[in-house]
Amino acid sequence: MASTYKKLRLSAIVLSIMVGTVAVAGLAMRHSAHQALLEDSRLSEQRLNLYGNNLTTLIERYRALPAVLALDPDLIDALGAPIASERQLALNLKLEKINGAAQSSTLELLDRDGLAVAASNWRTEYSYVGHNYAFRPYFQQTLTQGSGRFYAVGVTSGIPGYFLSSAVVDEHGRFLGAIVVKLEFPQLERQWRQDRDILLVSDARGVIFLASDPRWRYRLLRPLDGGARAALASTRQYDRQPLAPLGLQPLQKLAANSQLARIDAAEYLWESMPLPAEGWTLHLLRPWQDDPARQRNAALGAASAWLCLVFGVLYGYQRLRLARVRRQHQRELEYLVDARTRELRTAQQGLVHAARLAALGQMAATLAHELNQPLTTQRMQLASLRLLLDQGRFDEARAALGPFEHMVQRMNALTQHLKTFARKSPQGVREHLDLAHVVEQAVQLLAGRLKQEHVTCTLALARPAPVSGDPIRLEQVLINLLRNALDAMAASTVRQLRVTLVGDAGYWRLQVCDSGGGIAEQHLARLFDPFFTTKPAGEGLGLGLAISAQIAQEHGGRLEADNQGAGACFTLTLPIAEEAP
Ligand code: ADP
Repeated sequence: MASTYKKLRLSAIVLSIMVGTVAVAGLAMRHSAHQALLEDSRLSEQRLNLYGNNLTTLIERYRALPAVLALDPDLIDALGAPIASERQLALNLKLEKINGAAQSSTLELLDRDGLAVAASNWRTEYSYVGHNYAFRPYFQQTLTQGSGRFYAVGVTSGIPGYFLSSAVVDEHGRFLGAIVVKLEFPQLERQWRQDRDILLVSDARGVIFLASDPRWRYRLLRPLDGGARAALASTRQYDRQPLAPLGLQPLQKLAANSQLARIDAAEYLWESMPLPAEGWTLHLLRPWQDDPARQRNAALGAASAWLCLVFGVLYGYQRLRLARVRRQHQRELEYLVDARTRELRTAQQGLVHAARLAALGQMAATLAHELNQPLTTQRMQLASLRLLLDQGRFDEARAALGPFEHMVQRMNALTQHLKTFARKSPQGVREHLDLAHVVEQAVQLLAGRLKQEHVTCTLALARPAPVSGDPIRLEQVLINLLRNALDAMAASTVRQLRVTLVGDAGYWRLQVCDSGGGIAEQHLARLFDPFFTTKPAGEGLGLGLAISAQIAQEHGGRLEADNQGAGACFTLTLPIAEEAP
């Protein structure tokens, strides 16, 4: 269950990292494309400004021409009255000459009804002379406002151009006619064609009338409504051109005059610039294609940065988690050690108590045995003493009191031990003691058994052997060791007990060695374990050595066992006490 959850969580993390990487890479690509667009758009705008300036300068140069010609007295005069044919020829020649000098396309003179009375192209088959242009807006503008301007396809020549006109008036300011200059831009378009970019000029209605690529000419940026179509028809501005829509599809607006647009499956960065004086708009279209290498680099860069970030965060998180787990383990461990220590102490105290009770029981049995024998003897001696006294044999009676006294003394010594043992012994009792004395007392306590079991006991004790400790507990250790030795030798024919006490490097080494056959190799390691015993049930509790070792430790020493010669040797090591207080 938990592992499924973990797997799920891992998959979720991996998935979100992957999704994040893809998203970041995508965003970076988009951002980089947008930046590139903006960059290109800035460049286009600069170029567009340049083209715009050129175009306005060109138009500006010719704007003055009709205004100046309108002041020509010759022309004013000619329009004042009907024109004779010689006069017309002279006018035609004059206009032809000026047109050549000014390098304009055509010059024409219209009378007050819009009829062309003279034109620079009078020699050509498209001669304007004799045609009426009153329907053209520039004529209407000139009539009402004194000057006019209009871009249109020539109805006579079929060649498009920009018509600039000025009113010709008499000395009273009366309208006599108009002088019109026509500009054509084929050279400009040719010049534009050199450029990789596409240049267009559209009028106020969105009709493209100038284009570096002829395929774009007379196309519509936006649809025309009925009114506009009617107006175009009446002025014959684009004459018979079909005016098909361009099919412009805006993709992304970059700025007020800048956008990304699609036309016929190709994308263009489209920059526009209004030419307010003419009511036109100049457009610069740059074929747009994002650089795949740059996009890839942007995506790779962003993805690597993102992955670095993600792995950094994961690493930090993992470290934090590890530290937290470690802290928790530490706390748990400390708690566990605490609990175990408490348990151990309780168990040890319980063991000490149990062992003491067991020892007490054994001691009671020993005591009963020890006391019983002298008491029986004493009863018999008392009877014979009474007899001696009755017979008046006082000297013999006194002599008989000797061993009696000796026996009482022995019994006194025994009960003395019992008193010491029964005395309450709180932990941590520290008295200045002679270890040799403690040994002797323990041996004396078992004297009965030693004698009964025919054990040869040798003591070689350094004395005094000062130690600081609890006399009862230390005696308990010795009694344990001695009793174990006696038990071990119960089946031996040779029964030798040897107790030695020597001082060595700040420690007393007390050895209790027997000839009881020693300890089996496999038992050596477990001797000091509580409840380890090889004795039959009811005889051994297996606590003696465990408690003895514990007591040795409490006194800053230790208890060890090994085999030496014919039996086992137990060594109690205790620190030598500094000096008597
Ligand atoms: P108990 O005497 O109740 O068995 P102890 O802890 O005093 O408990 O002793 C544990 C065991 O160590 C004994 O059962 C015995 O096998 C072994 N042992 C102790 N002293 C001797 C010894 N002097 N010689 C051989 N074996 C011994």
